[in-house]
Amino acid sequence: MSTSKPGTNRASRLAFNTEMNFDYGVAVEVAPGVRRIVAGNPGPFTFKGTNTYLVGQGDVAVIDPGPDNDAHIAAIATATKGERISHILVTHTHRDHTDAVARLKDYSNAPVLAFGNTGKERGARTTSPSGKAFVDLEFIPDETLRDGDVLEGADWALDIIHTPGHAPDHLCFALQGRRTVFSGDHVMGWNTTVVAPPEGNMADFLTSLERLSERRDKLFLPGHGGRIEMPQRIVRAYLMHRKMRESAIYACLKSGDRFIPQIVPKIYRRLDSNLLPAAALSVLAHLEYLVERNLVQCEELPAAIHSAFSIPRP
Ligand SMILES: [Zn+2]
Repeated sequence: MSTSKPGTNRASRLAFNTEMNFDYGVAVEVAPGVRRIVAGNPGPFTFKGTNTYLVGQGDVAVIDPGPDNDAHIAAIATATKGERISHILVTHTHRDHTDAVARLKDYSNAPVLAFGNTGKERGARTTSPSGKAFVDLEFIPDETLRDGDVLEGADWALDIIHTPGHAPDHLCFALQGRRTVFSGDHVMGWNTTVVAPPEGNMADFLTSLERLSERRDKLFLPGHGGRIEMPQRIVRAYLMHRKMRESAIYACLKSGDRFIPQIVPKIYRRLDSNLLPAAALSVLAHLEYLVERNLVQCEELPAAIHSAFSIPRP
């Protein structure tokens, strides 16, 4: 999910990889014991489509069933023919990851595991790519997963890492003994992640990135886009990118801008108009984080897209 175009700054040129070799609906081994099927739901926020991963052999965990798309569900069934789906795991409850959950559960009888209710406001305050329609508000897992839990399957074990920021219920799954993390939409190789309030929270997002940056993983398998080798590099690039963006927004306020619509065109040059709402929410996420640290003040709280922002006088 993206608000910026590749190549718009140094950090992004360093990090983005938009190469991805795949055929829709075909399960391909992307790491030992891990297969990937790409769903046919490409778009500006889903890249080539949602990645569904199959973990293990014989007894298989499905990570992110994906969109409710007949061809995709048939592809999961074909790929797991003669095997048993033992678990259905969900990284976060955005519809491009969860819409196929009900049908896959009917087909397999496997339990659905996810973070579940966060007790936080979900969706977005304005229509946006992470707006209400994007969040699966009805989703209730059979079993909830928490940070630090370990989930064991027949020939695999996953460490559960709670990584809020893109979504409050976002989980990453670390495959034990393989230095491999299923990074969902928290870290993707092809572009930056959308952080759109209230669904997205910048302070949480940065904390979740710091947690991954402390690990020694060698491979990330994201919710969209290809394998990420040397993942610490992209995690650091993400952190650098956010610092640069925050400085640029702060500089706009210093030069007298007070409103998000004034700031967006200065931060995102050459932005497609259909990405403007997401860009505005991303600027709001940065401003919220500056307000939390008392570096910026806002006339109304919680801050919104049309709020006025300024730098407090010393
Ligand atoms: Zn997604």
